[in-house]
Order: sequence, then C-alpha cells, then structure tokens
Amino acid sequence: MINFEYARANDVADAVRQIAADPTAKFIAGGTNLINLMKGDVERPTRLIDVSRLPLTSVEETGDGGLRIGALVANSDLAYHPLIEQRYPMLASAILAGASQQLRNMASTGGNLLQRTRCFYFYDTATPCNKREPGSGCSAIKGVNRINAILGTSEACIATHPSDMCVALAALEAKVHVTGPSGERAIAFADFHRLPGDTPQLDTNLRRDEIVTAVELPKSGFPANYTYLKIRDRLSYAFALVSIAAALDLEGDTIKEARLALGGVAHRPWRRADAEAALRGQPAVVASFTKAADLLLRDARGHGHNDFKIDLARRGIVRALTQAARGTPQSQSVKKVR
Ligand SMILES: Cc1cc2nc3c(=O)[nH]c(=O)nc-3n(C[C@H](O)[C@H](O)[C@H](O)COP(=O)(O)OP(=O)(O)OC[C@H]3O[C@@H](n4cnc5c(N)ncnc54)[C@H](O)[C@@H]3O)c2cc1C
Ligand code: SF4
Repeated sequence: MINFEYARANDVADAVRQIAADPTAKFIAGGTNLINLMKGDVERPTRLIDVSRLPLTSVEETGDGGLRIGALVANSDLAYHPLIEQRYPMLASAILAGASQQLRNMASTGGNLLQRTRCFYFYDTATPCNKREPGSGCSAIKGVNRINAILGTSEACIATHPSDMCVALAALEAKVHVTGPSGERAIAFADFHRLPGDTPQLDTNLRRDEIVTAVELPKSGFPANYTYLKIRDRLSYAFALVSIAAALDLEGDTIKEARLALGGVAHRPWRRADAEAALRGQPAVVASFTKAADLLLRDARGHGHNDFKIDLARRGIVRALTQAARGTPQSQSVKKVR
C-alpha cells in the first residue's frame, strides 16, 4: 500500500503552483496509465494533483485554419469530433486503433502524450531497468525484447513510446502547448518526446513543473490520402509492434507533399526529413515508397527477438503509402458506443 495525498486543481495556475511546490507530486487526468503504474509500485508519487476537471475540454478552430485541442479532451471525444473526422481522419483512425472504447472514454489528450513505455521490464520491479531506476541496468537489451525499439536506442534503454495518437500527431506536425511557473510555451511535436540517450528516465522535454494545456493541429490534415496502419499481435486491445502514419498530397499521380511517421519502433514517433523529401515530386508508385522506407529505416538495428520488426516496418511502410495513394485508408472502424 502506497500512501499518497490527493488534491484537486482549481485552474491551470493552481495546478502549476501545486506541482511546483512538491517535487514528488504528479498530475492525474484519466488515470488509465498512472494508476496501473502506482498499483505495480513503478511510480510512487506522494501527492496526486487531479487536473481532470480543469476547463481544457474544448476543440476550437485557430485563426490560421488549424485546431486547438484541450489537454482534457477524452480520446474518444476527439476521435469522433466532426472536425477531426472530416479534416484530420488519420488522427481519428490512430486514436481508434488504440486501447479499448472504455479506456478511450477515460484517457485524455495530455495523458496520452505522457503515457509510459510498455517494456515488460519497466513494469517488473524485480528486474533492473534504467528508466525505472537510473543506473540499475537494462534487462531488455539481452532479454525478451520482442516489443522493443529498433531505432534511436542507446546502451541504456531500448524502450518504445507506445502511443498510437502520437504517431499521427507527429506526422501532422502538431504543437504541444504547456504552462509552467515562468509562463506558457509551445513545443514542436518533434521536440516533445526524447530519445533515451543516457537519461532514459526522461520520456519528454516537458519540465517537471509544467502542465500540458493543449495540442494544436496545423491547417493541413491530409484528409484525402492518408492511412494509419497498426500491426499488432491481436486485432484489438494490443499495442503496436509497428505502426505507420502515412499522408500524401497528390497532384494527379505525383506526390506534392508527404508525411511518414512510425510507431512501436523508437522512444518517440520516428520521422526522417530525407525519407519524406525523397517522396516529393516522385510518382506515387511502389518504387518511390520502397526508397522512402529504406531511408526511414536506414539506421534500424534489432536486438534479437525484435529483428523481425525491420522487415515488418519496411513492408508496412510500402503498404501504408500504397493505401494512402489509393485513397483507401486502413479501416479502424469502431462503432460509436457511448
Ligand atoms: C489495457 C490498456 C491498453 C492500452 N492500449 C493502448 C493502445 O493500444 N494505444 C495507445 O496509444 N494507448 C493505449 N493505452 C494507453 C492509454 O492510451 C493511456 O493510458 C492514456 O492515453 C493515458 O491518458 P490518461 O488521461 O488516463 O493519463 P493518466 O494515467 O492520468 O496520466 C498519464 C501521465 O500523464 C501525466 N499527465 C496527465 N495529464 C497531464 C497534463 N495535462 N499535463 C502534464 N502531465 C499530465 C500524468 O502525471 C501521468 O504521468 C492502453 C492502456 C491500457 C490500460
Ligand atoms: S528498455 Fe528501457 S524500459 Fe526496458 S528495461 Fe531497458 S531501460 Fe528499462
């Protein structure tokens, strides 16, 4: 039994004041990840600051044609929001590929960004894990690493970021709005999650005393030619072994703009500017897609059990880009059950 205090934040300023005052406190939103981690003795906050009632639940149009999504918009509300369904269907599809309807009803936008890895050893407190206990070692590198990373790894950690939503947000080049004691700032999505390096205990560049208030989508949502392809052990209720967010802007058969992000392969959604640049101006055919896949996976390295991910990702990228080009996205059809 872990003893902890519970307090509710009245507004964003109060939430920031409370977290800044207590270095061992944590925010709680939907609680779908944090409570599990506390039950498993992986996270031990001495104080929970409940932000779930803050007025950050709206989806609003921005002046430059994008959308601002409050950090407390539930994953299911976001996936079924008419503006998301119409203008950013890749994001809706990615969200619906994750978890279960019940979990998506509870899970928040901000919490989804900050969910922690699903590496088996991170949850197993009887084993060394540098992310859970810095300096203790990494059990996964020579252990059962089937679900672990093939890109951007370090000697200290080969964990992956497990979110589906974040893969689409990376491809869409979203921004994360945060507030801390020194005010507000916006973080480009590419800079939000970190690679493990020698500080695998840090998943993101969010400061300890900052709260996520919103995620902003730019105008371009690639509604005509996109797909979110999630490859996993079961058809539902399973994390991605490999996932691909692919979005194209086509002029006839020629690619004008391309976005490509991988999930399940690295400590953050994985993109490479050269892989997307290689698609621009090219015909939307398998040869172009294969070249982009090779570039995106150029530095991929398996650790034994997860070697299969490299080929799986290569074939997945070609399939996802083919689906996007044809305008036949992968169906994540989940009936709206509320
Ligand atoms: C069985 C199961 C299956 C799942 N399958 C998938 C899946 O396939 N794909 C997928 O993407 N996800 C999956 N998930 C994860 C789920 O999406 C996350 O648990 C959820 O998105 C977390 O949101 P939350 O609001 O519940 O976060 P919480 O559990 O409340 O918080 C998570 C973390 O975020 C922090 N936090 C929360 N809100 C804020 C904020 N506004 N500012 C700063 N910090 C904040 C908390 O302090 C905590 O560290 C699964 C979860 C479970 C339990
Ligand atoms: S891969 Fe990372 S999370 Fe998994 S055991 Fe190693 S250090 Fe821990």
